[in-house]
Amino acid sequence: MLLKEGVTVEQLGIPECGQYCNPVRPTTIVPGGIDNGRTCRRWEFMRLPEETKEEMETTEKVWALLSGWVQPDQADLVRHPVYTFWSLVADKSRDGRVMLAGDAAHVKPPFMGQGMCAGMRDAVNLSWKLDMILKGLAHDRLLDAYQPERAPHVSDIINISIFLGQIICIPDIEESHKRDAMFLSGTAPPMAPFPILTDGLLERDASGAPKGIAGQLAPHATVVGPKGEGRLDDVEGTGFNLMLAPGVRVSPESTAFIEGRGGKVVTIADKAGAPDAVVDTHGKLVGFLKEAGVDTILVRPDFYVYGSASGADRLVQSLRADLKAVDLKETALELYMPILGLRLYTPAAFRTPATPSWLIRRPFACAAAAMAPSTFP
Ligand SMILES: Cc1cc2nc3c(=O)[nH]c(=O)nc-3n(C[C@H](O)[C@H](O)[C@H](O)COP(=O)(O)OP(=O)(O)OC[C@H]3O[C@@H](n4cnc5c(N)ncnc54)[C@H](O)[C@@H]3O)c2cc1C
Repeated sequence: MLLKEGVTVEQLGIPECGQYCNPVRPTTIVPGGIDNGRTCRRWEFMRLPEETKEEMETTEKVWALLSGWVQPDQADLVRHPVYTFWSLVADKSRDGRVMLAGDAAHVKPPFMGQGMCAGMRDAVNLSWKLDMILKGLAHDRLLDAYQPERAPHVSDIINISIFLGQIICIPDIEESHKRDAMFLSGTAPPMAPFPILTDGLLERDASGAPKGIAGQLAPHATVVGPKGEGRLDDVEGTGFNLMLAPGVRVSPESTAFIEGRGGKVVTIADKAGAPDAVVDTHGKLVGFLKEAGVDTILVRPDFYVYGSASGADRLVQSLRADLKAVDLKETALELYMPILGLRLYTPAAFRTPATPSWLIRRPFACAAAAMAPSTFP
């Protein structure tokens, strides 16, 4: 919905966003930006069992649903389809040179607002891998780490989204009272933490599980240093970046390895003084290292932590070993091994799971939405 010229959300008392756990009709309000001075809002209304799709899509029904907030002389409807959402994850996201990303690879319920976000994570994950391949730094087997990295992450988001939907969409007065009582008494089950990477190109412990903080997102620090001031990725660039606490030594060989793959070795300090260090102005990254009890982290080009350590060289060695099967700078010769009838050892990160089981198929409730023009169709 687009407010008519001169009509404001403040006059009408329309919130910027809202999640109404109303058992009569669960309703969501989402901001849609401003178009030529006119405010957009998206409403999502749960379709009730006795309502038909055709009925929900009529203009009269949409205005009736909106009547508590806005009237026809105050706004224009932009779009109002009935949308049935699903939880689906493709069981395969690569077939040779074809990769699936975004909604083609997964769709999810709307309650986390993560559909486009997940697609962007796919794009970021794929882009650094493709970049290394196109630069001749890596074999295309690197792409085999894409599915194990992305599919569990998306599945976790779907599970949280379903969990939230089950709290929001309770179209039953008695059941909604039970839910409210749980929240008011503090006994409501907590939401699972936001997912991290659990598989793929991550530092592993002896049991093969991701080690320490491997798979977590590194903080997006604000820094000032010899190259300037701003967000860390703008100032230092992205890549396999080795972030060191002041005083941590790194061998020329490790530095060459990191820089040879487009990464940087960056010393990060909480205050000026350490030579060549960038200063973490809000202490986010320094605090992250301290909390993890390490003095070095190796951050992947998509900002996930590959691994952490006290001492840099061992960490670089670990990445080197993990990349060995795909690293064209180091193992060009080994790539010819299959031609000679020899088998290459493949680290866990690049092994395709024997039985992919990412397919989740759960129909969920339907929602009719009077939607504003936004990025979301
Ligand atoms: C009601 C609703 C609310 C949403 N709210 C949110 C939200 O709050 N936050 C969020 O993160 N996400 C949200 N999403 C999800 C988000 O819109 C999608 O996840 C995202 O748009 C998917 O982007 P995509 O590029 O993968 O696919 P799409 O946006 O579907 O783009 C695919 C494109 O490919 C084109 N195409 C298809 N077939 C062909 C072909 N054969 N040849 C050429 N082109 C083709 C299509 O026309 C389309 O333009 C919402 C979705 C809906 C429906």
